[in-house]
Amino acid sequence: MVSISIRHLTKKFGGQAVLSDVNLEIEKGELFFLLGPSGCGKTTLLRHIAGFYEPDGGAIFFDDEDVTDLPVHRRGTGMMFQSYALWPHLSVAQNVAFGLEERKRPRAEIDQRVNEVLDLVQLGGMGARRIQQLSGGQQQRVALARALVIRPRCLLLDEPLSNLDAKLRMEMRSEIRRICKEFGLTGIYVTHDRDEALSMADRLAIMDGGRLAQVGSPDEIYKNPASRMVAEFIGEANFIEGRVIRESSRPGQYDVDCGFATLRSRPNNDEWRPVQGQAVQLAVRPEAMTFGDVRDSPNRFPGRIISTTYLGATVQYVLQVTDEILMKVCEMNPRDIRVPSRRDDVMGMCSVADLVMLRK
Ligand code: ATP
Repeated sequence: MVSISIRHLTKKFGGQAVLSDVNLEIEKGELFFLLGPSGCGKTTLLRHIAGFYEPDGGAIFFDDEDVTDLPVHRRGTGMMFQSYALWPHLSVAQNVAFGLEERKRPRAEIDQRVNEVLDLVQLGGMGARRIQQLSGGQQQRVALARALVIRPRCLLLDEPLSNLDAKLRMEMRSEIRRICKEFGLTGIYVTHDRDEALSMADRLAIMDGGRLAQVGSPDEIYKNPASRMVAEFIGEANFIEGRVIRESSRPGQYDVDCGFATLRSRPNNDEWRPVQGQAVQLAVRPEAMTFGDVRDSPNRFPGRIISTTYLGATVQYVLQVTDEILMKVCEMNPRDIRVPSRRDDVMGMCSVADLVMLRK
């Protein structure tokens, strides 16, 4: 198990900056996610950690060891990719044994370690099978076994589940997390699937255009996004433009003029003290919105439901607040389903804690 330190990493492809001064500390035993839109540099960063790419500037450390110039096979990383790249003509055990044979381990040790790791990924007794005789999920487990059998210092995963159907993906999510935690493995996992990141990560980085837009726990990033881009990438959100009027009678809460109403909001960051007249953006998640008319709540405003989508566990509404402002509202476990109306006859509400102020 190692800690991984990425310092001022920079990379250009054909004059185009793909990684710009990336700094990141990943702790021992942490399952860390790189999340972001297509082309933001996730895979490029992972490939630098694996040793496939040489950076233009900066350094990578595993614990105190500078591995920036160390070739791939001497870094001791286990890798699992989207295409499992298994050899179809070899058996399960032969596929898994490959890394140990390359390292010239004695036969008895290879057999023992292959059996152990197949048990770990729940493929015990299937070593003699051909790859073609396995389901997609089982093939994925072989790829995982192959990455683990060398007892890597860290595990690098690049969209490992994207070829699986939804049910298998869910199963493998908890499986990969269980194995990383059981081994105390440091894992770095690239995905563009936010549910995968939210449900599996200890911490994650959201990348945007070769930079780290935010690093934090899933909960921190979901509740306190650093920017509109982050808020939108990690979940659904409504945004409202406004100007700060003043800090309210409650310290840390600010009254904001949003045109159609004065709303009370809290900054996304405790250190930030917005000033009077400052243009800001307020963000609220659809599930943090409700309908109601609680008189002493500062954040309520009239609107008109213009669309209703019933999804069983939830109902999603679109609330028209002004000509320009539409807000999504998501109600869990709905009792009465509201229907679209031509009049402004409902009150949308949210708590101050759920209305987060972002810099513009
Ligand atoms: P995705 O989610 O689509 O896999 P990503 O965030 O992993 O995207 P990267 O694969 O790291 O993105 O690519 C980042 C940028 O670098 C893209 O614009 C891509 O076209 C470019 N790029 C990646 N590899 C190379 C390469 N070997 N040569 C030139 N350009 C490259």
